[in-house]
Amino acid sequence: QVDYIGEPVTQLAHALQAADRARASGDPELMLAALLHDIGHLADPNAPQMADLGTVNHEGLAQDLLLKLGCSARVAQLVGGHVDAKRYLMRRPSYAGKLSEASRQTLAHQGGPMSDLEAVTFEENPLHRDVLRVRAWDEAAKVPDAEVPGLDFWRPLLLDHLLAPRPGETYGGQR
Ligand code: FE
Repeated sequence: QVDYIGEPVTQLAHALQAADRARASGDPELMLAALLHDIGHLADPNAPQMADLGTVNHEGLAQDLLLKLGCSARVAQLVGGHVDAKRYLMRRPSYAGKLSEASRQTLAHQGGPMSDLEAVTFEENPLHRDVLRVRAWDEAAKVPDAEVPGLDFWRPLLLDHLLAPRPGETYGGQR
């Protein structure tokens, strides 16, 4: 059981709750992105840390890791974008009050709210709406003792995804 830095749920509970919230989308890639969005905090125990607030650049580490494992570019980019989504949303005054204390503290390590230029660039990413959805599920996935399906529920979906042919990508794991 790995604590989810400064939150009232474990990393596993957080991941399972985020994935469960994504189910209503009906989009397996969104569900997997929600499930895996924080895997960068667990990927390498020796990676540099943000004080006691988790791994530095966990979103970028996760994006690289997921591509290596055989996830689609879309899943990897959704995960890689979930911190940018927070930095984007922090431009709205009403948003800061909704963030957990830990999430507000990590923001300082993550570059703070986006500049105007960064925000425009973010909106130009065709995936940005999906990135914002993953972010919303992430933030809603910190409920102590929530009853949600366990990892076994997600295994078939994950295997299907990893084994799916990816046109234009090289077969054999070295994507
Ligand atoms: Fe999270």
